[in-house]
Amino acid sequence: MVKVNENFLKLPGSYLFSEVARRIRVYQEAHPEAEIIKLSIGDVTRPLVPEVVAAMHAAVDEMGTAEGFHGYGPEQGYEFLREAIAQGDYAARGVDIQPNEIFVSDGAKSDCGNIGDIFGVDNVVAVCDPVYPVYVDTNAMAGRAGEYQEELGKWNRLVYMPCVEENGFSPQPPEEIPDIIYLCSPNNPTGAVLTKDQLKVWVDYANAHGAVILYDSAYEAFITSGDVPHTIFEVEGARTCAIEFRSFSKTAGFTGNRCAYTVVPMELERGGAKLNTMWNRRQCTKFNGVPYVVQRGAAAIYTPEGRAQIMANIDYYRENARVIREGLTAAGLECFGGVDAPYIWLKTPDGVGSWDFFDQVLDRANVATTPGAGFGPSGEGYIRLTAFGDAQATRTAVERVANMFR
Ligand code: PLP
Repeated sequence: MVKVNENFLKLPGSYLFSEVARRIRVYQEAHPEAEIIKLSIGDVTRPLVPEVVAAMHAAVDEMGTAEGFHGYGPEQGYEFLREAIAQGDYAARGVDIQPNEIFVSDGAKSDCGNIGDIFGVDNVVAVCDPVYPVYVDTNAMAGRAGEYQEELGKWNRLVYMPCVEENGFSPQPPEEIPDIIYLCSPNNPTGAVLTKDQLKVWVDYANAHGAVILYDSAYEAFITSGDVPHTIFEVEGARTCAIEFRSFSKTAGFTGNRCAYTVVPMELERGGAKLNTMWNRRQCTKFNGVPYVVQRGAAAIYTPEGRAQIMANIDYYRENARVIREGLTAAGLECFGGVDAPYIWLKTPDGVGSWDFFDQVLDRANVATTPGAGFGPSGEGYIRLTAFGDAQATRTAVERVANMFR
């Protein structure tokens, strides 16, 4: 009789977004006239930029010719894209990353989850609280999280690093020394960022303890502050302790196109093995590459025109973030994030619970949000607002929520 992976049976139901959707649906059915604006969506809404569209069209035409047809591509990504990334995202910032350290993939979500394949099951894993749930659930599936404790909303073998107002939503090195440390900057859901000095502390810590930092920088394009590094490899020592995940999803509107990449430096070795070689082996065995057409589209954002066009979209979302942050702050609410990130982390007034505040805002302002408690116990008392919506709808939503407090 087959035995299933029992770790899957320990996972709590994927409650957050389904429960948000359910409550919106129930409310809409009871109030058909309500025009609900969603500041809950984590997906982009701006269309692909013209340079990307032109590059993808050209690639489709190429694929329709005998000379230009591409079958299976290299599992690690085409050289033209790995080169463009090495130049555009690293050399341009004075960081030396070679194309053979870059692995193109179909998503940072897949990579953040799949990276666990190259690590043993006995490692101690540290995650932020609140956290992007993929890090937690994939470790639980692999058997690295132990048992889920319903009453605490935590796994007993994971080390949780609370990111709360008192520490500026910045994770602190925990007492129990972890082997694998997930960091996410700019952060989903808090919108907080790690400065170069803060990141240096983590790099030194990881090198001192033989740990590996899994650095998720999916929202890098939103960074505006000068002291916030765009890549962990701007920090001295990171090449011997860090793996970086980047994505075209939020940078270039590729959530439906699927393209991302992971950087594994050649110097990164643990247990006598090069992690670059191990990840290469893993990808070659389990992954057959990103479509040629998609990679051509991704490479188009590294041309001057492509860069200008995607930055115009990022500016559009940044303006939404400013409107949310400033509008709600003016209404007397406490907002965090939203400066270097598309997420605003709003403290519920008077200590109201996340879900209760979600219901109040939905009912009185017809605005959908995401309850912070769904991202981990330390998210209780917050809601997450996103800047990925339509500009006019965002302004209307902010006015409606602000009116609740006038
Ligand atoms: N990492 C973080 C922190 C995210 O919030 C998301 C998407 O919401 C992803 C990764 C997923 O990126 P991708 O679309 O490349 O899979």
